[in-house]
Amino acid sequence: MNASNPETFADLGLHPKLLAALTALGYEEPTPIQREAIPLLLNGRDVLGQAATGTGKTAAFALPILHQLPEGRRGGRPAALVLVPTRELCVQVSEALHRYGKGRDARVLPIYGGQPIYRQLRELKNGVDVVVATPGRALDHVQRGTLNLDSVSTVVLDEADEMLDMGFADDLEGILSAAPKKRQTVLFSATMPSRISKIARTYLSEPVRVEIEREQVAAGESPRVKQSAYIVPRSHKPAALGRILDVESPTAALVFCRTRAEVEFLAESLIGRGYRAEALHGGMDQKQRDRVMNRLRSEKADLIVATDVAARGLDIEQLTHVVNYDVPSAPESYVHRIGRVGRGGREGVAITLAEPREHRQLKTIERVTKNKIAVQKVPTVADLHARRLEATRAALEDILIAGDLGHVGVVVESLTDEYDVIEVAMAAVKLAHEAVAGPSDEDEIPEAAASSESDTGRGKDKSRGKGAPSARGGQKDRPRSSSGGTARVYVGAGRTGGVRPQDLVGAIAGETRLTGRDIGAIEITDRFSLVEVPADSVDEVVSALRATRIKGQKVQVRPDRDAPSASRPLSRSSSKPPPKSGGKSSPKSVSKSSSKSSGKAASRPRAGG
Ligand code: AMP
Repeated sequence: MNASNPETFADLGLHPKLLAALTALGYEEPTPIQREAIPLLLNGRDVLGQAATGTGKTAAFALPILHQLPEGRRGGRPAALVLVPTRELCVQVSEALHRYGKGRDARVLPIYGGQPIYRQLRELKNGVDVVVATPGRALDHVQRGTLNLDSVSTVVLDEADEMLDMGFADDLEGILSAAPKKRQTVLFSATMPSRISKIARTYLSEPVRVEIEREQVAAGESPRVKQSAYIVPRSHKPAALGRILDVESPTAALVFCRTRAEVEFLAESLIGRGYRAEALHGGMDQKQRDRVMNRLRSEKADLIVATDVAARGLDIEQLTHVVNYDVPSAPESYVHRIGRVGRGGREGVAITLAEPREHRQLKTIERVTKNKIAVQKVPTVADLHARRLEATRAALEDILIAGDLGHVGVVVESLTDEYDVIEVAMAAVKLAHEAVAGPSDEDEIPEAAASSESDTGRGKDKSRGKGAPSARGGQKDRPRSSSGGTARVYVGAGRTGGVRPQDLVGAIAGETRLTGRDIGAIEITDRFSLVEVPADSVDEVVSALRATRIKGQKVQVRPDRDAPSASRPLSRSSSKPPPKSGGKSSPKSVSKSSSKSSGKAASRPRAGG
């Protein structure tokens, strides 16, 4: 046990049932943010953590919460409340708590809009240990008296900057004032603008600040390593990696994964693709590891798929490529990993696969290492074909150089009696190509955009938060729909009810599957508002908004009776009359990222929540 310098989860003094869960999940060691935050949280301190998705921040607050749950029978009221900006994150965090806390019989309840409320009421009545909720729905339950916070000893504000951007400040205030004064409060945020510091000053008590960006890495430490990244949705990662490797053709590559389970899975998947891949992780004994290394050194294997722990200290002379299958949890880890190539004056390649939400962590790595990581497009089926044709061409050229073709000349001669020699050559190339390249039945991998907040450079844009209106109405701001069309939703509350664009964006993104990127123009008049959404999501948006409150009020919500707006976009100067109530107020159309009336602005919520 090494409590002052924890290297393992056991060093952190976590409950044995939690240690068992982490081992079963294949987590080999704590990430830097976990190493710093967990001891503080176990000591009851308030923590202000700067960490983005990909750093392991969820386990950093989840494990102490689960550790502190009392043994034996527990009361019905929750001991911890985790607030998150979106429904998607709500599900994700609940699942993580459930996975880690199974052995501790943790009762975890996600609470978000769009889900039948009676189910939430039933679960709350049955008793829960941890509630994970979006602020709108949590406040709704608090006000109804169905969520009692009297027993809450820990409150977590996860992705606090997102929650503020989405207009949840008032809801947070309402919830926190209903929670006991004597409690532990934890705030995690990817950025630390002054409004987050203000929240921290108001709601946290002598917090310890934890961040993973402190250690500056010497600039240009790995100049000979070509660094690139691909933004890929999780479900497409194995296929994307296979395709990238096909195009890159590494002589020898080391692929880093986070967990043992991921190592095993990916090695299998690459073997299925025809690679000679070997798994290497901390669950293997020294003999097994030596065998893997020998296979790579003797060129019997092309790829090693490994965890950080297993790859520590490995020095592989012929390595040409390092691949981060996930974004590393800290910049230092990135530097250590890519330092395996580009040694001794040779050139190396470092490739990182990031999920759209992890784009911010990639930016942090760029900033700390002062190295540019070029974001590339995943090779298309056409790129792959071109690469394979090139390989066939090179193989044929080798045969031409080697000569010794006399024995097949008779075939060419007999065919050229009837066919053109070029045609004969093409047929031969086709035959050779199909034999070498195999069947080409690959589907395209959808292009994933980085999540919106990183595109907009949140945290850098000083004008945001001051109500700077943004250009609107172009394709960029149009909501997405699988059918391509958009439609508008009528919300019976407007400026006089204090409604701002961010309230509408927050309510929709928090209560439905849509994200800020899916929401188009927002028009707010004195008495009502119109929100443009994908046509095929209108019903979902209407029922979700009917079930929730906007600015604490139940409001009338229905599809706008006018024609779908795809053909007639809302415009800033729109003078369209109100749809039904016929109020005299002239509608003001604003971007969802601006609000003149409030003097505040919401930046666009991240894609994928
Ligand atoms: P988060 O930053 O909380 O979204 O976590 C990012 C990913 O890292 C999730 O898939 C976690 O399951 C995984 N993860 C978190 N902590 C660890 C760890 N110590 N070792 C391996 N994987 C981890």
